[in-house]
Amino acid sequence: MPSSTDITPATDRRYWNEEAQTMPRDALRALQEERLREAVGRAYEGTGFFRRRFDAAGIRPDDVKTLDDLPRIPRFQKQALRENEAEHPPVGDYRVSGLRGAIRLAMSTGTTGRPTFSLWTRHDLALECELGARMQWRLGIRPGMIVANAHPGYLNGGQAFISALYESMGCLSISLGPPESVDAAETALRAIEHIPIDHWGLFPAALHRFREAAARLGYQGTLPEPEEIGPTYQYDRISAGQECVGFLGSACSPGRGSHLAEDYAIVEALDPATGAPVPDGQRGYFVITSLGRDNSMIRYDMEDVIRLESEPCDCGETSRRAFWEGRGKDIVEVQGRWVLPIDVWMEVPADAEFVLVRPASPADVLTVRIEGTPAGDLADRLTAAIGVPVVVEAVPDGTLPRSAYKAQRVVDE
Ligand SMILES: [Zn+2]
Repeated sequence: MPSSTDITPATDRRYWNEEAQTMPRDALRALQEERLREAVGRAYEGTGFFRRRFDAAGIRPDDVKTLDDLPRIPRFQKQALRENEAEHPPVGDYRVSGLRGAIRLAMSTGTTGRPTFSLWTRHDLALECELGARMQWRLGIRPGMIVANAHPGYLNGGQAFISALYESMGCLSISLGPPESVDAAETALRAIEHIPIDHWGLFPAALHRFREAAARLGYQGTLPEPEEIGPTYQYDRISAGQECVGFLGSACSPGRGSHLAEDYAIVEALDPATGAPVPDGQRGYFVITSLGRDNSMIRYDMEDVIRLESEPCDCGETSRRAFWEGRGKDIVEVQGRWVLPIDVWMEVPADAEFVLVRPASPADVLTVRIEGTPAGDLADRLTAAIGVPVVVEAVPDGTLPRSAYKAQRVVDE
């Protein structure tokens, strides 16, 4: 998680790309439709994956002319990419470029199921750098800054991806590597002890390791303070994965939702049952179509939950904002309502350890298990905030599952 110290803007330009980020809505829609037609045509002519899906749905590229035609195009999920890579080794046939047209390869993290390949062409990587620069600019990163990250490298590709972005912005990028061992953490800290780092890109678990190593070493350099990561943090950045649009958007100010790079992506929030768009402010499934790429994804269902906001933002950017509400697999359905961990997190201390209990069949009551001694009125507050009856079970400290990277907030029973 990036955390900022001593940022001195090298330039006071308001946006990274003013023309793109403040484009009038009607011009933006026209641009999206032009790029949608192009992406659909390329995918149909240039890939087996999309051509077969379009043919099966009885759609010709000429049928897709405007955003209103989008619902006719079938959606797909990550599992379809896994299967496609297995059926058409080595990297599947869902890309136009193929291996020889690409300049970089990485593996998706694959937290669930077999990892898939990410491939970037020169153009697609440059495009990610443009979109990433818009995100970083909103977060205060400026050319001339020194930025350190501890993202994993090699086949994971995260380190190379973030470094390409910072370098393209004119920043000095220092990749420390994940502090996987005491030696690794100490070697990294010794190297940077006298370097005035302006910005850190560290996940909390990595920062914790570095701080432990710093204490042992008597390290005299800087390290960020552990940041209290609250629930609305997840509203401030949004990604559709390295394989689609890694740097999709960020918030102009905390909690406002992430401005989407809509000139290069169409983002939908859909009712999973009907496939229809849900109104602004309501939760729906996050479906994305990437635009302007050599290798586009057409209606990729991220299996995540978002809500969209179309009201103009007073920062001057014209794009819609997205609020990332959580993973679809973390939905607990209570009385037909979707409850997600963030709903509980909003009502408890930021560092509280809690889980939502998901029974085998949908229940009329939500059970929340929380460590320590929760406030006496917590059940009432949760019931009022979420709109379904909530039962709170207090458990001793250290009882709930811990994860080094992403918290596990739902348990199935
Ligand atoms: Zn804004």
